[in-house]
Amino acid sequence: MAKKQFKSESKRLLDLMINSIYTNRDIFLREIISNASDAIDKLCFKSLTDSNVGLERSDFKISISAQKDTRTLTVSDNGIGMDSEDLENNLGIIASSGSYKFKQEMEDKDKEDIDIIGQFGVGFYSAFMVAKDITVITKKYGCDTAYKWHSTGADGYTITKCDKENVGTDIIMVLKDNTDEDKYDDYLEQYKLSSLVKKYSDYIRYPIEMEMKKSRVKEETKDSDKPEYEDYFEKETLNSMVPLWQKPKKDVTQEEYNNFYMEKFMDYNQPLKVITTSVEGVVTYKAMLFIPSKTPYNYFTKEYKKGLQLYSSGVLIMDNCEELLPEHFRFVKGVVDSPDVSLNISREMLQQDRVLKQMEKTLEKKIKNELSSVLKKDRETYEKFYASFGIQLKYGCVSDFGAHKNDLQDLLLFYSGKEKKNITLAEYVDAMKEEQKYIYYATGESAEAIDRLPVLELLKEKGYDILYLTDEVDEFCMQSIINYKDKELRSVLNDDLGLPEDENKETEEEKKSGEGTVNFMKETLGEKVSDVVVSKKLKSYPVVLTAKGGVSFEMEKYLNQMNPEGGVKAQRVLEINPNHETVKAMMSYIDTDMEKAKNYCQLLLGQATLMAGLELENTAEYSNLVLSLMK
Ligand code: ADP
Repeated sequence: MAKKQFKSESKRLLDLMINSIYTNRDIFLREIISNASDAIDKLCFKSLTDSNVGLERSDFKISISAQKDTRTLTVSDNGIGMDSEDLENNLGIIASSGSYKFKQEMEDKDKEDIDIIGQFGVGFYSAFMVAKDITVITKKYGCDTAYKWHSTGADGYTITKCDKENVGTDIIMVLKDNTDEDKYDDYLEQYKLSSLVKKYSDYIRYPIEMEMKKSRVKEETKDSDKPEYEDYFEKETLNSMVPLWQKPKKDVTQEEYNNFYMEKFMDYNQPLKVITTSVEGVVTYKAMLFIPSKTPYNYFTKEYKKGLQLYSSGVLIMDNCEELLPEHFRFVKGVVDSPDVSLNISREMLQQDRVLKQMEKTLEKKIKNELSSVLKKDRETYEKFYASFGIQLKYGCVSDFGAHKNDLQDLLLFYSGKEKKNITLAEYVDAMKEEQKYIYYATGESAEAIDRLPVLELLKEKGYDILYLTDEVDEFCMQSIINYKDKELRSVLNDDLGLPEDENKETEEEKKSGEGTVNFMKETLGEKVSDVVVSKKLKSYPVVLTAKGGVSFEMEKYLNQMNPEGGVKAQRVLEINPNHETVKAMMSYIDTDMEKAKNYCQLLLGQATLMAGLELENTAEYSNLVLSLMK
């Protein structure tokens, strides 16, 4: 039979893996066992409703055997098995979804950091780190034919028919030859195998059995002075089989939690936080939740599936039960095990299921409380969390018309212009000056850009802090929060910043000249602006462009990006500082050189537009005006 080639990207990936980018080879066994356990889960679940399976929960097991003379290690299961199509689809492609991302990552410099195995769930292939030849013999439940998949690595694989009596899968690995540095023989030693199972696969809920070589006193020499010993073999279950979440917290080490998470949820980083909870009451359940330490690479794509694994008294019901998590905590991973969930619950029933609803409610509260406590007690960890998932919380505040804002607003962080670090709204309010009326925020592309905004000048001078918002969602978030602890959130571009009036008291004369300037500019600029007003915020700058009404400049940019046809436009208000030299200069030409005065006026609008980070409507015109000044 002709050899089939792995898909091209897979081939490259496999090459890299075999050549051991990943140094912790030990994990191949955990990957193979985990696949076996998943396959058993599937058949076990089927057996609940299909009596033809003919197996009881207690019949399911995984066996490991090592053959030193042939250097083979075999892992067998009596799970669901695969047919030829499954073999083709599952073992012919390496993590198709992850390969693109992988390619990108490889181009980055930090190659050391890449654990392709954990990252892309190329679990099965990790066996090639230790084996030079792999055969998979498998028979799928409900099929008469068994198949053999065979491969010696990156050069391809074959699939042929073969004989196998029982449903299930045998993975037969011929280990690589030893080298000076690497002793692959170790993986044939029972002590090594049993310790790997204990370390990585202890909680697997089916027995992992191995014939263990033991030694005993020969029966006939039992009573003699010189007892003789003999070897014998005895099947032993290597794992304790108690799911981690069923064990008392004190009996589980952090390493065990971490390993469980990394294996189960295919993350190559340890979780940032583990949350365990045991609830008894209207609904009884145990849950073990994890907050990843980094944003999953596919988090913002539709490939990422929100949800928790749902078990009913130890039987896996569903891999990704979405109903257990609110959208704003979709980054949380974990398992929930409840005797109150019925085994044959269907997708359609889930939505109305009272038990699930109740669980979601209490889980949400638990997650929120845990995050609050990290925020309070371990700011550094919280900042890490926030860098990865803060944006999700902000979206949570905005979604459903702000229905979740009361739950989420205390978990938000914003960059403080004064403190030069992230702060909470509560911290902002606590540090507010007595006379300060509002919580101020400014939006822009970066903190540096915001820092240069002319409108901040006066607020800064008064010692008021300003929150710098750089995410697109930020402004929507502020508009949905509206008030925090009775303090209104207010954009620095708002017409009224609530500053004490008396400090800006103008003389009658100033007022008059201001009005004159405003009128002249209004007339000159016409439709280009909605309004021209004397600013209360400017000191050393002549003009600033602000937005009136519900749409800000950042929103204008964002909405037009989303829908270029939409033509959303914020209402532009030109605020002026009539006492500024350039404004005065403009006015001084009114009587002598009207043309020049008008040009100055257009230039000031251009300046204000550029300072607001907006594009000029007519670049050529602006450029000509500047050039005319240089003559
Ligand atoms: P993953 O487990 O992340 O999906 P793997 O490369 O480990 O990736 O396995 C690919 C697929 O091959 C599995 O999803 C499963 O469908 C199938 N598979 C692997 N091992 C077995 C097995 N022992 N029994 C049945 N199917 C298996």
